[in-house]
Amino acid sequence: MADYNVIVIGAGPAGYVAAIRCAQLGLKTACIDKWINSEGKSSLGGTCLNVGCIPSKALLDSSHHYYFMQKHAATHGISCKELEIDVAAMQARKANVVKKLTQGIGALFKKNKVTSIEGTARLVGNQQVEVTAADGSKQTLTTDNIIIATGSVPTQIPVAPTDDQLIVDSTGALAFDSVPQRLGVIGAGAIGLELGSVWSRLGSQVTILEALPDFLATADRKIATFAQRELKKQGLDIHLGASVTGTTVANNEVTVSYKDNKGEQQLVVDKLIVAVGRKPNTEGLGDIQINERGFIEVDEFRQTAVPGIYAVGDVIGGPMLAHKGSEEGVMVAERLAGQKSEMSYDTVPWVIYTWPEVAWVGKTEADLKAAGVAYKVGQFPFAASGRAQAHGDTTGMVRILADAETDRLLGVHIFGISASELISEAVVAMEFEGSAEDLARTIHAHPTLAEAVHEAALGVDGRMIHA
Ligand code: FAD
Ligand code: NAD
Repeated sequence: MADYNVIVIGAGPAGYVAAIRCAQLGLKTACIDKWINSEGKSSLGGTCLNVGCIPSKALLDSSHHYYFMQKHAATHGISCKELEIDVAAMQARKANVVKKLTQGIGALFKKNKVTSIEGTARLVGNQQVEVTAADGSKQTLTTDNIIIATGSVPTQIPVAPTDDQLIVDSTGALAFDSVPQRLGVIGAGAIGLELGSVWSRLGSQVTILEALPDFLATADRKIATFAQRELKKQGLDIHLGASVTGTTVANNEVTVSYKDNKGEQQLVVDKLIVAVGRKPNTEGLGDIQINERGFIEVDEFRQTAVPGIYAVGDVIGGPMLAHKGSEEGVMVAERLAGQKSEMSYDTVPWVIYTWPEVAWVGKTEADLKAAGVAYKVGQFPFAASGRAQAHGDTTGMVRILADAETDRLLGVHIFGISASELISEAVVAMEFEGSAEDLARTIHAHPTLAEAVHEAALGVDGRMIHA
C-alpha cells in the first residue's frame, strides 16, 4: 500500500486548497513545500501569501490611507497637521498580516489532517516523490496520485537583470525600506500598476515603461482609457510602446535606455522594478512533459500525460491568478474522490487593485466584435450613485455587455471603488447563465455601490432611473 493517496507538491493557493479538499474527502494527503521566508523559516501559502496577493494588498491599503489623508481627508472636514510615513511600521504591519495568514494554513492543515512536509520535491517515476529537506536529508514517499502545484517565478529580461538592490522584481519592490525618490517600473500589468501605485502614493515619482501600444490591452477599452487617465492624475507617468534596450547601474542610480515613438530615450531612477510577467516553476521537478512556453501540459481535468499525475495553478498557465488555481485544485481533489466536478474558465474574474479598482469578468467588446456576436451595452457612472457621492469617490463606471438577442450576460466591466467586491455579483449571475434582466429585477439595498451594477443592467434595455 502506498504511503499516501495523494501527494501535493506546492502549498500555494492551488496546492494547499487541493490538499485540504483531498483530505476533507477522506484521501490520505501530504503537501510538500520548500518555501523559506526572509527570516529563514519555512512558510506555507506560496507566492500569494508570502510575496504576492496578500503583502501587496497590505501595502496598497496602508498607502491608500496615507494618500487619502493627504489628498481627500480635508474635503470630509478632517485635517491633520503633521502627517508622516513610517515605512518600517508599514512593512512590519504587512509582515504581521503575512505571518498570521501563512501560519493559518498550517492550522488548517492540522485541522484537516493534511501531513505538511518541508522540503523540495522531485518526481521519481509515476508514484514516488523524493523529498530533500533543508539539511540535505532525503526521503522517498509512495503515493497513488500526485498533484503538482509548483507555481511560478518572476520573468527576468536580459536588458534589465535584477540585482536585488537597485533593480528588483516584485518581491524586492514589496520590501523597500524607504520611499525611493524616483522609481522606474518596466511593465504596466497588474504588478506594475499595483506596486507603482503603492510607492507613488507614498511620494515616489513613478515612471512606467510598457512595451505594448495599448494600456491594459486585455481590459474593456473604455474602462482602460478612464483608468489610464485617472492613474495619470494620481502621478503615474505611463509610457506606452516603450521598448527597453538596456540598463546601467552607477552611482547608486539606474539609467534605463528605451525606444518609443519619439526615438531613443533615457530614464534615470533610484530603483527599478521589473514586472514583465511570471514563468512556470518546474525547475528540478523531474521528468514531466512541458510545452514550448514551459507550462506543464494537462487535459481538461488537469491530468498530465501520465495517469495519476495532475497539475494545477500557475504552473499550467492560463490566468495566473490565485483563485483560478484554487478552483482547479478543488476540481482535481473532488474528481480523485470520485465526484464529477468541473470548472468554468469563462467566469474567472480579474481585478487590478489600483484606486479605484479595475475588475471584469467575461468578454470585452473587442472579443465580441471579433466573434461577430451582436450585443447591447448598459453603462452607469459612479458619479450618479448616491453611495459613491456619500463616500466622496465618484470616479468610474459599470459597463454591462449582454447578448442582443437573448439578453444573456456576456461581460461585466467595472472601474470604481470596491470593484473587486462588486464583480462577484456579476460572476454569480454569469455562472448561472443569467441575463441583464435577471440583474435588473434583483432588488439591491440602498444606498450601496452595488446599485450601480443594478442601474447598468437596467441600462442594457435603456431604462436606467438615475442617469
Ligand atoms: P505559488 O503561489 O507560486 O506556490 C507554489 C508553491 O510551490 C510555493 O510555495 C513553492 O515554494 C512551492 N514549490 C515549488 N517547487 C517546489 C518543489 N519542487 N518542491 C516543493 N515545493 C515547491 N493573484 C490574484 O489572484 N490576486 C492578486 O491580487 C494577486 N496579486 C499578486 C501580487 C504579486 C506581487 C504577485 C507576484 C502575484 C500576485 N498574484 C495575484 C498571483 C498569485 O500570487 C499567483 O497566481 C498564485 O500564487 C499562484 O498559485 P500557485 O499555487 O499556482 O503557485
Ligand atoms: P502581467 O502579464 O500582468 O503584465 C506584464 C506587463 O509587462 C504586460 O503589460 C507586458 O506587455 C509588459 N511587458 C512584458 N515585457 C516587457 C518589456 N520587455 N518591456 C516593457 N513591458 C513589457 O504580469 P505582471 O504584472 O508581472 O504580473 C505577473 C502575474 O501575476 C500576472 O499573470 C498577473 O495576473 C498576476 N498578478 C495578479 C494580480 C491581481 O490579480 N490583482 C496582481 C499582481 C500580479
